[in-house]
Amino acid sequence: MPLFGRKSDGEKKERGKDSDIRKKYDLKETLGTGAFSEVLLAEDKIQPGKFVAVKCIDRMGIVGKEESLTNEIEVLRRLNHPNIVQLTDVFEDKNYVYLVMELVTGGELFDRIMEKGSYTERDASYLMKQVLEGVDFMHEKGIVHRDLKPENLLYYSSSADSKIMISDFGLSKIEDSGTMATACGTPGYVAPEVLAQQPYGKEVDCWSIGVIAYILLCGYPPFYDENDAALFQQILRAEFEFDSPYWDDISESAKEFIRNLMCKDPKKRFTCKQAIAFPWISGNTALDKNIHASVSAQMQKNFIKSKWKRAYNATAVIRQMRKLAMHKEDKKLQE
Ligand code: ADP
Ligand code: MG
Repeated sequence: MPLFGRKSDGEKKERGKDSDIRKKYDLKETLGTGAFSEVLLAEDKIQPGKFVAVKCIDRMGIVGKEESLTNEIEVLRRLNHPNIVQLTDVFEDKNYVYLVMELVTGGELFDRIMEKGSYTERDASYLMKQVLEGVDFMHEKGIVHRDLKPENLLYYSSSADSKIMISDFGLSKIEDSGTMATACGTPGYVAPEVLAQQPYGKEVDCWSIGVIAYILLCGYPPFYDENDAALFQQILRAEFEFDSPYWDDISESAKEFIRNLMCKDPKKRFTCKQAIAFPWISGNTALDKNIHASVSAQMQKNFIKSKWKRAYNATAVIRQMRKLAMHKEDKKLQE
């Protein structure tokens, strides 16, 4: 069995058994699974009807970071920003660390884009602006995400004009998912200096934002090779192209924005503030042309999820739970 592989349900250590988390929260359905963690829906016992998300991190995935944990969490709890999923509480027991987070119910970024009817550069620009503002806020506080990727961008609610939220901020130090994911061979969003094993800082987030912006405008990743070594080389050289025909209708301003974020030299790379000030974000250079057909077709092809990874939509889960609860009530009344 792989060291960090998913355990079968039979072997799974019971969550919350020896922790105070069960005094405060009712742990319910799975909302999503990551490499080393599972995110569960939970209901507040003191305020029934109030739901949160609880990220259960297997202690096997935390490498000798135990003492720093409480300090980190204290810092994170005090920081809040409209585009960052708030961390509210932490519990632990022998097997798991439980991070209680604000529940977001709007689903993942790419899923929503694929479902939409129309999608433009301007939509992508607005998404990137919110991400940049959240990341800039955390950078100001000295916190680096290190694992920015589309799966960590979640819609706050299912309404069409919902804001986007960044999850997992500051958690990479705890989970170390960034480096582990790299070791496991999904380096798509990792900056060249990380692969080169040089010391790195908040510039790595700006690189990842560039990669995300690239995908948001064409639906496929800037670096791809079946062979990991070749893929590493592409990233290390920051070798990417705006291929025809996919990029033919995209503005020069958008391309310039991406070039400045996916800049090999971290010292010359745009900071969040520079990126926010760029006309594609703050001016009028983002185009209004509908690019949905081409982008969503590419996303469908390149970002299909395997079944076990598919996230459950929190709204659907809550609705289902309410139905079940009402059904039980009805039955009681009938008896
Ligand atoms: P990863 O390591 O891939 O980021 P996570 O363990 O962070 O995985 O989360 C897995 C999935 O759980 C996410 O992709 C998302 O669908 C869901 N999820 C994470 N955080 C929340 C949250 N605060 N509210 C609702 N769903 C969440
Ligand atoms: Mg995540």
